[in-house]
Amino acid sequence: MKPTVVLVGRPNVGKSTLFNRLTKTRDALVADLPGLTRDRHYGHGRVGDKPYLVVDTGGFEPVVDSGIMHEMARQTLQAVDEADAVVFLVDARSGLTPQDKIIANQLRQGSRPVYLVVNKAEGMSRAMVVAEFYELGLGEPWSISGAHGEGVRELMDEVLEPFADEAPAEDPRHPKFAIIGRPNVGKSTLVNAILGEERVIAFDHPGTTRDSIYIDFEREGKPYTIIDTAGVRRRAKVNEAIEKFSVVKTLQAIEDANVAVLVLDASLDVSDQDATLAGFALEAGRALVVAVNKWDDCGEDQKLRIKHSIARKLHFLEFAKYHYISALKGQGVGELFKSIDQAYTAAMCKLATPKLTRALQVALERQSPPMIGLTRPKLRYAHQGGMNPPIVVIHGNALDKLPDSYTRYLEHSFRRIFKLEGTPLRVQYKSTD
Ligand code: GDP
Ligand code: GDP
Repeated sequence: MKPTVVLVGRPNVGKSTLFNRLTKTRDALVADLPGLTRDRHYGHGRVGDKPYLVVDTGGFEPVVDSGIMHEMARQTLQAVDEADAVVFLVDARSGLTPQDKIIANQLRQGSRPVYLVVNKAEGMSRAMVVAEFYELGLGEPWSISGAHGEGVRELMDEVLEPFADEAPAEDPRHPKFAIIGRPNVGKSTLVNAILGEERVIAFDHPGTTRDSIYIDFEREGKPYTIIDTAGVRRRAKVNEAIEKFSVVKTLQAIEDANVAVLVLDASLDVSDQDATLAGFALEAGRALVVAVNKWDDCGEDQKLRIKHSIARKLHFLEFAKYHYISALKGQGVGELFKSIDQAYTAAMCKLATPKLTRALQVALERQSPPMIGLTRPKLRYAHQGGMNPPIVVIHGNALDKLPDSYTRYLEHSFRRIFKLEGTPLRVQYKSTD
């Protein structure tokens, strides 16, 4: 599992600047799709062989509690609670402030490793910069410049040191799918509907309380693993604990799955949170099936409304199949599995180089790449660079400046030619000049 690193600190210390630096490489792989909802508080990054998830707590509203402004809002505390490591930023330019001390006090009570990081330290002597921050009692301070990238690599090497390198992708012999969605859309009900009628082989892979529950089962003789992001709450009900909706848990489940099943509540319009979750699945490159649940609960008017709402807010998911189901009544679950199977097969497809290159030629003949200045980019041949999502690497000359719209055209073409339904597909370029 990817470790989660959370960035905390009072406003203006440079959290979002550092966040952007830590997530830069990954973002570059995903073309900006119109309508794609990006949540700039959560991102993926990688240092060497170590991938990580990073959370920027910067945009969270401070909570006013008995007249005192608490620097760490409730959500910030939850993020800290779910993190594997905490990067606590302070500002070399403004020096130690009372708010820094309040935050340090809270962090010292937690059980996560905390890295005290003095930011904006470019052009300053390290010894001078860090001196006053020892009194926070969080050990040896680091000094970095998030804006200039100084010291960031060294810091991240240390933060990630305890965590394993990325495991080599296991050969996926059967679909692993995650049931995701905001609270109350019917995830638990759907998991029960799926498992109720199936023979459960092994229950509950062990995990910590913040993890999703993994369940292996068979359906019509075929093995699956379901990742149940709502399951922890059911288990916790015994203690009357109220499960907080956890974005981190959802993100990790998406990462770990081959296929994400996004559950929507048909009795309500598509919300920003639905669109954000869909955006996460897309950014992770996961195959996606959308289950529009509680269809039994909808009159004709609402059925039309939700379809319009989907068309307006989720149009960037044009590759995904939609199912209108009732988890409560067990309606539509069988059809849902057909799409899960199809999306899995598409996500795992193997595309031979000659076939891909031929498909490229077909796409080029139908619509040639635009001139860039005086040159026309030359797309010569294509090979597969990965799966889940399928990545098509195109070799040629002057490919760097191809517009996103042309890249999207190629993605659509490959998907159509190879009949890849339910999975996003990525096109990357390798220019020889
Ligand atoms: P946040 O509120 O903690 O997310 O802080 P921001 O990332 O928005 O940064 C606040 C201000 O500090 C901005 O004007 C940044 O340009 C600036 N800043 C961020 N990192 C650095 C740095 O490493 N050096 C300097 N000199 N300024 C920085
Ligand atoms: P979760 O928070 O996403 O796991 O949602 P739950 O599975 O706990 O369901 C939330 C509420 O929606 C419960 O009261 C369910 O009984 C109800 N519900 C779930 N699926 C359906 C459905 O298909 N139709 C109707 N009418 N209600 C449903």
